[in-house]
Amino acid sequence: MPTASSVHPLEQPHSGRLLLCASLAVFAAAMVGILLRPLGYLSVFWPANQIVLVLLLRYPRLMRPVGLAAIFASFVLADLITGTSVWLSLGFTTANLCGAACGWLFLHRQSKRDLQMEGQASALMVFFASGMASLASASIGGPISAWAFELSITQGLLMWWTGEWMNAMMLLPFLLALPSASKPAAVQERQSWALKLLPALAVIGLETTSYMVGNKVGSLAFSLPALLWCALSYRILTTAIITMLVFVTKVIVISNIVGFIPANVLDVASLRLGITMLILGPLSVAGSHAARAELLHRMRYQAHHDSLTDVLSRNGFVQASHALLKRLTHEGNSAAVLMLDLDHFKRVNDNHGHASGDRLLRDVSRVLTESLRPQDVLGRIGGEEFAVVLPHISFEDATAIAERLCHTVRNGQFQTAHNEPLLATLSIGLAYKQALRPADSLEDLLREADLALYQAKSQGRDCAVWTAPL
Ligand code: GH3
Ligand code: MG
Ligand code: MG
Repeated sequence: MPTASSVHPLEQPHSGRLLLCASLAVFAAAMVGILLRPLGYLSVFWPANQIVLVLLLRYPRLMRPVGLAAIFASFVLADLITGTSVWLSLGFTTANLCGAACGWLFLHRQSKRDLQMEGQASALMVFFASGMASLASASIGGPISAWAFELSITQGLLMWWTGEWMNAMMLLPFLLALPSASKPAAVQERQSWALKLLPALAVIGLETTSYMVGNKVGSLAFSLPALLWCALSYRILTTAIITMLVFVTKVIVISNIVGFIPANVLDVASLRLGITMLILGPLSVAGSHAARAELLHRMRYQAHHDSLTDVLSRNGFVQASHALLKRLTHEGNSAAVLMLDLDHFKRVNDNHGHASGDRLLRDVSRVLTESLRPQDVLGRIGGEEFAVVLPHISFEDATAIAERLCHTVRNGQFQTAHNEPLLATLSIGLAYKQALRPADSLEDLLREADLALYQAKSQGRDCAVWTAPL
């Protein structure tokens, strides 16, 4: 009887659906490309190969004979329906798949982050990989198209290589960035809609100017400053879409003026290479901007969080509590400040080892976090000492929470590093203010809570102590 792991990946549930969807996507993309073909020559815009590459990267199950055969058949079917000869179709399809496979070889080991265009060098990586992939497919497709359209081999190679590379640089970044659609933009400033739209409007303005200037070589790069502005303002996917729209429009408009035909091979090839390089600019900026934003985010997190327990560190707790108390004071609202200390924690280290002490600190932090409300601030402010600020709370509720925390830790199912059961208890000191005044500083409240904690320790531990509010 076959076990789950012995089932061929493409025979797993949903594989049939994946094959059908992949085939339909490739067929539709090939039809779009064929419909944009100038009469009797290769397509101006050919999205199918990039779609195949992204499908292979995202669904490695397709990189099997049956998957590749289905993709191959989709290409051939689109050709045959639109009147291409069988032999020519077989040759072109082999070239297309060869390019996609080469791109896959270069890209499939890259990190997920890089493959979502959010790495420092993502754009350069796609530039290089698609350059090699287009060379690979041109090495087959170039000579075939030279034979089919009566060109020299050099013309055939140049037309195929540059067309394929430019298509890849226009489309691949957009397709690769697609899963990151839900991520926030690298820059998350609170801006009005009108301000947010400015970079996109600048692109439209500069693009319009470039078309008004006419078919001059320099106008090709007019919108570059606005595209760079987009790269610094929007998420990667938005920048990739805007860049793609700008250059696909350019290519279609220019191909109607210049004519992407073999007689203009050098003009066409240099135009395509120029566009390929231009696209690199905004995408590189967007990638390194996203990488920098992510790094800043990580550093900020590390500066405010304790690496062992993941709750706020002393620094993070003080900052968050200061801000919270300032707001509460302004509103004349109430707050309780708790100091918590694990009882006889040194014995845990001495009897079970430091790793067990660490595990207990992590587990107690998790239990405390789960017991508190989302608006409460919890921090680890020393070795086995924690502090909590409870905003908007009555004195009765604050003392009930303190006692509940003692109860929860007393009854917690903790374990040593060797998974043996471990008992723990907590002492808590509580300071309370019914209506905070500007004179009530965090430091004073912590000191008051610390005095109460000291009393809890001297009363035998495993209890919460407070002074009644004045
Ligand atoms: P008490 O009930 O009076 O609070 O006694 P205690 O043993 O909990 O307090 P004491 O201050 O004597 O010991 C605290 C111990 O916590 C000493 C220190 O080695 C240990 N400790 C501090 N930070 C860490 C840590 O990050 N990991 C581990 N495993 N131990 C830590
Ligand atoms: Mg202690
Ligand atoms: Mg202590």
